[in-house]
This record gives sequence, C-alpha cells and structure tokens, in this order.
Amino acid sequence: MLVRIVGGHGGVAPGYRATSYLLDSKLLIDAGSVASGLLIDEQVQIDNILISHAHLDHIYEMAFLSDNCFGLKGKPFEVYSNTVVRNAIREHLMNDVIWPDFSKLPTPENPTIRFHEIPPEKELVLGDFKILPVRVNHYTDAIGFIIEKKDAAVVFTQDTGPTERIWELAKKYKNLKAIFTEVSFPNSLEQVAIDSKHHTPETLYKEMDKMPKDVPIFLGHLKPNFQTQLYQEVEDLNCERLNLLGSDDTSYVF
Ligand SMILES: [Zn+2]
Ligand SMILES: [Zn+2]
Repeated sequence: MLVRIVGGHGGVAPGYRATSYLLDSKLLIDAGSVASGLLIDEQVQIDNILISHAHLDHIYEMAFLSDNCFGLKGKPFEVYSNTVVRNAIREHLMNDVIWPDFSKLPTPENPTIRFHEIPPEKELVLGDFKILPVRVNHYTDAIGFIIEKKDAAVVFTQDTGPTERIWELAKKYKNLKAIFTEVSFPNSLEQVAIDSKHHTPETLYKEMDKMPKDVPIFLGHLKPNFQTQLYQEVEDLNCERLNLLGSDDTSYVF
C-alpha cells in the first residue's frame, strides 16, 4: 500500500496543505488539498473518496476537484462518509449558492460526485481495499478508518481527541503496519485541544498506552502556526515510534 501525504496539516498557509492522503493513486482520504496538491491527471484517476468528517479543512477542495474533473472522468467520484458530511456538503458547500451542486451535474443520473453513507464498524470493500470505518472522538460524528490491503493494514484516525474503540479494533489486525493520527496543538494549549477534540504531544503520549504496540505512528494535522513548537515538544518525548508529517507530499509504503 502506497500512502501519499498530499497534505497533512490542520490548516493552510504557503508550504502547509490541509488533509488529503492518497492510497495507491485510487483511494483518497479527505479533500483538504486534493485539488491544489495533485495534477489534474492524478485527480481524474481517483475512484473512491473517504471523508472523515465535515470540517472545512477536510472537505473544501471537493468543490475544486469536482470542477477540475467535470466531464473528464466518465463516471462519478464515489464519496463515502456519514450523513452529517453529505448534508454539510450539499447544504453549505455545493448548494448552488457557494458552488454548483456537482452531485446533480452534468445530470442527476450520471453526476460528478455520488454520496454513499457508511455505517460505523461495517466493512466496506472498494477494489483491493477492505475498509472498516470506526467512530472517533471529534465533532460532526467523525470517523477514522482501518484499511487493509493484502498483507498490510493501516489505521487512519484523522482528527480526534482521546478515543478507545478504534484502538480496540486495531489490535485485532495481526498485519498492522502503521498508525496515522494527529497532534494539533502544543502542550500549553491543552484546554483548547480538549475543547476542540484534538491532541497535544502530552495527551497523544498518554493515548499511546491504548494503541496497538510496536508499529510506527505518524502524526499529522499540525497547525501551521505551531509547527516548530510541535516538533520540539514531540522530540522531547524521546519516542522512536513517533514521526511527524511536517512536509507535505511525502510517501510511505506498507
Ligand atoms: Zn481538521
Ligand atoms: Zn476537525
């Protein structure tokens, strides 16, 4: 499984892209930088899109992806998420006011994007990928994903504060190769992290007790304005398992 971090940050600034992870060029997780971070030829090749939750930094480039690929693909982007995400995109983003409703264009029968609701903890098979959506501790009924392909499984929580269920389920995968999760705020902003359901390096370090052991952990969603501080605080933890997604457009093979 090739995991390409198109954008791995919790915000947008020059050099910092919001969240989009691309698996084997075909499966996208979150649409925070899919249009600005991939060539249009690469955008067209995406078949399926998983959206973790409705926050803007995870959905907004659905608008530009749809526009870029309109008429080029011959089939819809199949978008898998929960009811909140579908309603949020339809009512607040592609609502024919902010942007055209590409779930009806060019025709309702053959649109540019097509939504599918996925219930938590029910396995979904998309091509070579087996995907288990699991509720995590973040707003808008956020979901994380345990994704398995052949002999490798990888956890992607996306945005979350302290959580339990996805770690319980991940421990059942004997072929688990990596965990992608988040650290958004520095330790001095722990209350902000608690209120917004995110992690600091210290809360993440405690969270590791609940996670499956021994696999590498990749931390994304760093807020661009705190990146230097987060690097220092994660380094101070002196934990070899922790890696930071500080540079966008990096790839990993599992
Ligand atoms: Zn976010
Ligand atoms: Zn969020």
